[in-house]
Amino acid sequence: MKSSTVDVLIVGAGPAGLAAAIELKRAGVKNVRIVEREKTAGGVPRHSFHPGYGLRDLKRFLSGPKYSRYYVNKALKNGVQISTSTTATDWIDPNTLTLTCPTGIEQVRASVILLATGARERGRAARAVAGKRPSGIYTTGSLQQATYLEDLYIGKTAVIVGTEHVSLSAVLTLKHAGVKTVAMICEKSKHQTVFGAPTIMKLLYRFKLHLATKIVEIQGDQRVTGVKVSRAGKEWVIAVDTIVFTGDWIPDHELARRGGIAIDRKYKSPITNGDSQIPNRSIYTIGNLNLPIKGADRCAVEARKIASKIAKQIHKGSILS
Ligand SMILES: Cc1cc2nc3c(=O)[nH]c(=O)nc-3n(C[C@H](O)[C@H](O)[C@H](O)COP(=O)(O)OP(=O)(O)OC[C@H]3O[C@@H](n4cnc5c(N)ncnc54)[C@H](O)[C@@H]3O)c2cc1C
Repeated sequence: MKSSTVDVLIVGAGPAGLAAAIELKRAGVKNVRIVEREKTAGGVPRHSFHPGYGLRDLKRFLSGPKYSRYYVNKALKNGVQISTSTTATDWIDPNTLTLTCPTGIEQVRASVILLATGARERGRAARAVAGKRPSGIYTTGSLQQATYLEDLYIGKTAVIVGTEHVSLSAVLTLKHAGVKTVAMICEKSKHQTVFGAPTIMKLLYRFKLHLATKIVEIQGDQRVTGVKVSRAGKEWVIAVDTIVFTGDWIPDHELARRGGIAIDRKYKSPITNGDSQIPNRSIYTIGNLNLPIKGADRCAVEARKIASKIAKQIHKGSILS
């Protein structure tokens, strides 16, 4: 089995992992490697084609793909080694990870490991909604991948479940895919995005906003035919062929858990000290692995700060593997 050693190994080439890697190199850390399980580095913004990225970190307003290309190019220019199609699967010890890569299995030992594995939206299975398993069910992330990266047929009419910022992305993506948003529903009595946004969107895109409304059942055998919903004891069916579950994030903490790292009960993120460090280990968590969910720009800014502290400690010699 191939084995190697680096100063810092980062798991996840999203905005957080890339921003941290760039800062580490800028601060003079020699060997910085990022591993990314997808074929392309960049994280979620790669398939998030609407503008809205880069305000706090780059002082620009970019689309997701432009934003992720900026970070990937900058990381490569600064000498960061990025290994795509490479998944960190397990731990040998707190400083050594096993990687599954196109050439086989590899072991990498690092003085510091940064976990930047992000978060994902809670899908249908995790929400335990009744009904069969017809096609036509997405999260915003999977909808964007199917629409923008794979150019797949999505459907004709959709219900969006959730009213977070990301739910508005779902409206835009559905529009791009030629799907009419019929309704947006949310169990809470108030929406969870910026003031006025759902009202403006509902007027622009002509859908109904049902607050305090619960999804009871998904209808359809092969393909979704409708969604049964309820509010204040009254049930009705919205006829659609597509459902998008949005928001309600879960940190991608699988790898952290496999390493015996304690997970916070409420947020399901790894438990860290104030500096995002796993107590008594040279392991740090950055980006949306640390819930609550943040925009990509916040993740990048925070990751940069943590990376700067780590670089100082490496130079002082206070981090030894
Ligand atoms: C639909 C949608 C729209 C959004 N719109 C905006 C917006 O307009 N503006 C904004 O600022 N933010 C937006 N966001 C939020 C933004 O995308 C996230 O805040 C940001 O991507 C988080 O960065 P991250 O690096 O923490 O995680 P991610 O971008 O999720 O990157 C994590 C990476 O880790 C990789 N990974 C996970 N586990 C492993 C493993 N074991 N081995 C190897 N690789 C692994 C994943 O493949 C992924 O590429 C949006 C999010 C979504 C889903």
